[in-house]
Amino acid sequence: MQFTTTVPETIDLAIIGAGPHALTLTTHLLQKRQSIRGKFSVFDPSGKWMSRFLQQFAALEIPHLRSPAVHHPDPNPFALRKFAESRPNELFPPYDLPGTQLFADFCEDVIQVRQLQEQVIPLAVKSIEPLPHHLRSRFRLCLQDEQIVIARRVVLATGSAQIQIPDWVNQIQTSYPQDRLCHSQTIDLRKLHLIGKRVLVVGGGLTSGHLAVGAIARGAKVHLLIRRQLAEKLFDAEPGWLGPKYLKDFFAQSDCEQRVIMIQQARNGGSMTPAIATQLRQQVRSGNIRIDENCQVVKAEWLGENWRVECNDGSQYECDYIWLSTGTKFDVTTEPLLRDILAAYPIPIVKGLPVLDTCLRWPGCELFIMGGLAALQVGPTARNLSGARMACEKIVPAIVKPSVAFSPSVTGVKAG
Ligand SMILES: Cc1cc2nc3c(=O)[nH]c(=O)nc-3n(C[C@H](O)[C@H](O)[C@H](O)COP(=O)(O)OP(=O)(O)OC[C@H]3O[C@@H](n4cnc5c(N)ncnc54)[C@H](O)[C@@H]3O)c2cc1C
Repeated sequence: MQFTTTVPETIDLAIIGAGPHALTLTTHLLQKRQSIRGKFSVFDPSGKWMSRFLQQFAALEIPHLRSPAVHHPDPNPFALRKFAESRPNELFPPYDLPGTQLFADFCEDVIQVRQLQEQVIPLAVKSIEPLPHHLRSRFRLCLQDEQIVIARRVVLATGSAQIQIPDWVNQIQTSYPQDRLCHSQTIDLRKLHLIGKRVLVVGGGLTSGHLAVGAIARGAKVHLLIRRQLAEKLFDAEPGWLGPKYLKDFFAQSDCEQRVIMIQQARNGGSMTPAIATQLRQQVRSGNIRIDENCQVVKAEWLGENWRVECNDGSQYECDYIWLSTGTKFDVTTEPLLRDILAAYPIPIVKGLPVLDTCLRWPGCELFIMGGLAALQVGPTARNLSGARMACEKIVPAIVKPSVAFSPSVTGVKAG
């Protein structure tokens, strides 16, 4: 077979994914040890850094980030603020939230300054198989084009979020056109014409707000259904979770079940920023959106031209599109890339989250995990940009100094 992209047969470190977490890791590794250059490879089917992140912002026409300007992939927290000196109107109130274009340009600068443009191998990793070992662990990565790479260490930075689909969707009896019921991750507002259409948006997070605003801008009438009350919060978790204020108690808690509860309480379902909530209220007054709180869909039926939807309070509505903004979940047991690792090195799992060691390493082998799956050791912001920096503080010392011993972060946990 002929391969269009040649990859090295063996590598020291394979980083899977080229999103903001992988970029943050790469900049931190290079800062700590320049000699790591040439020893690692990054895999992402897009062949580019940050592609999924930027695509999501573009598809939902998100004007700026939710997180303040200190959160970004450069090791220097002030680097983005410095970069923005000539573009002050692209930092949005109340806490200098970087505009989407500013953030994209900044990341491009981070990539160019370190000459990382050519680092991403444009192939997905299909499987990670641990090889039998005596002294050193190794992995056999099978790539999307069937090429095989042997890696001594692996960092999984694929985002790993799985979309959450409510039960009533799976119970829909009739077949329906796919574009009439979509999850937020597959919606691209830029491609839609919605004049005169009725769009039902399900969910109360910031993404619901972006979808509602985007649909209205395209001439739709929106009905927003939130199973709880519309929650207004600046950030998805309190800033106290970025430092010792809350993390001290989190790490002092050795029971992972309790940690999961702390994570859930800290994130507390979806919330919208006050700015988006204000926009929605204005649209309520203009008659473009109706917001129903404490309301859940129980049944949806495709009538051939449009939907009929039934809610738990007995109310019924008709609409043309249903958009699910019902979030994502992290579950290590359903992550295909971890299937062989889980079989070879069974470890405790609590509510879908693996109990990693304090370096975010899978106990027993040299595989590290970043992002939402590392939440038991990073805290509620593990999936966010801030979580990437926090993950690096734990992973980088273990990678540049492989002798850092395995240290279980918690004791007495039940196997999942
Ligand atoms: C709409 C939206 C807005 C957000 N805004 C903010 C914000 O303002 N501030 C904040 O802190 N957080 C924000 N987040 C949360 C978080 O920062 C992002 O989800 C971020 O993209 C997570 O980065 P990541 O690198 O873990 O994952 P991703 O950005 O998803 O990158 C993972 C990469 O891995 C690649 N990949 C997947 N599988 C494979 C495979 N098998 N082989 C090779 N490559 C693979 C994908 O192609 C992708 O490019 C937002 C999230 C969303 C969805």
